[in-house]
Amino acid sequence: MTSTEQQPFLSVRDLKVHFSTEDGIVKAVDGLSFDIAKGKTLGIVGESGSGKSVTNLTILGLHDRDRTAIEGEIVLDGKDLLTSTERELERLRGNKMAMIFQDALASLSPYHTIGKQIGETYRKHTGASKKEARERSIEMLRRVGIPQPEMRVDDYPHQFSGGMRQRAMIAMALVCDPELLIADEPTTALDVTVQAQIMDLLKDLQQEFGTAIVFITHDLGVIADIADDVLVMYGGRCVERGTKEEVLRDPQHPYTLGLMSSMPSLDGPVDVPLQPIPGSPPSLLNPPTGCRFHPRCAFVDKVAGGLCSSERPLLEVADGRGSACHLPKEQRKELFADLAVIRHN
Ligand code: SF4
Repeated sequence: MTSTEQQPFLSVRDLKVHFSTEDGIVKAVDGLSFDIAKGKTLGIVGESGSGKSVTNLTILGLHDRDRTAIEGEIVLDGKDLLTSTERELERLRGNKMAMIFQDALASLSPYHTIGKQIGETYRKHTGASKKEARERSIEMLRRVGIPQPEMRVDDYPHQFSGGMRQRAMIAMALVCDPELLIADEPTTALDVTVQAQIMDLLKDLQQEFGTAIVFITHDLGVIADIADDVLVMYGGRCVERGTKEEVLRDPQHPYTLGLMSSMPSLDGPVDVPLQPIPGSPPSLLNPPTGCRFHPRCAFVDKVAGGLCSSERPLLEVADGRGSACHLPKEQRKELFADLAVIRHN
């Protein structure tokens, strides 16, 4: 726990998710631990292929069980999810935990009205009547800001705009008041105005329901807006974690620094060029030895003895704050200060 003294509602311990493909074993997540308390938001940030989405599909039990080997522990409100049956997980999904995805159109059925889809989720978990489910659907559409919900409840997804579909998906995810919401890049496909509205909506709903939110994104600006705590993932591992303020004001890992330097700043000078991280994310079929970031790291030569490519740096965490890098702390301070880094308030 970092920004809170509350007991964790969700606790993930040393999670490893490896799955088999035709080309070999993909080590998608390789020893990940974090906690999240009720009413708090954990932002998980990283490039695509960093293991963010696999982590969350595993929490929800939506992974392919035949092809996936999982180790570690995932405990939700005292219940061990990795030893739960499919039936138990099915009950928890939608009821205690829910997910919203990037692509609402792909998640909503084109053949049924919005109201029916929200209502069916409600009926399945509560045993409510059709009439009660319809009333609940209208109430949820109103809560997520759909105008004239009594009429729009009978619309099909194609009759909604992109932003409205995203709201409808949020209404469906929250219809049973889940205590954990996993949001996987829910605003990426939307324009900035709608994006801001959806973020505000999630914050309001969190206040109202006390929901714990895991928010997955590649965008540190989004993290700055919504997260309490931040976990930075690279190559299936956590490379840095801490409160939002700690990570964004004082990054301790070269990868976090790289992400920050590749983003535009609203309050910084306009003539500072953005610095994209050179190279591409590692293959998880055959990940680099030692520190998985070493082929792309600007500081790899600053660590003596080729340690970066031979030995995995451990994530040392104290009071929820930690990073996995061989560079000594004092040296990082000096080196990182030389780079133009954006700061988010
Ligand atoms: Fe860079 Fe080495 Fe630190 Fe990895 S351990 S981030 S390669 S300095």
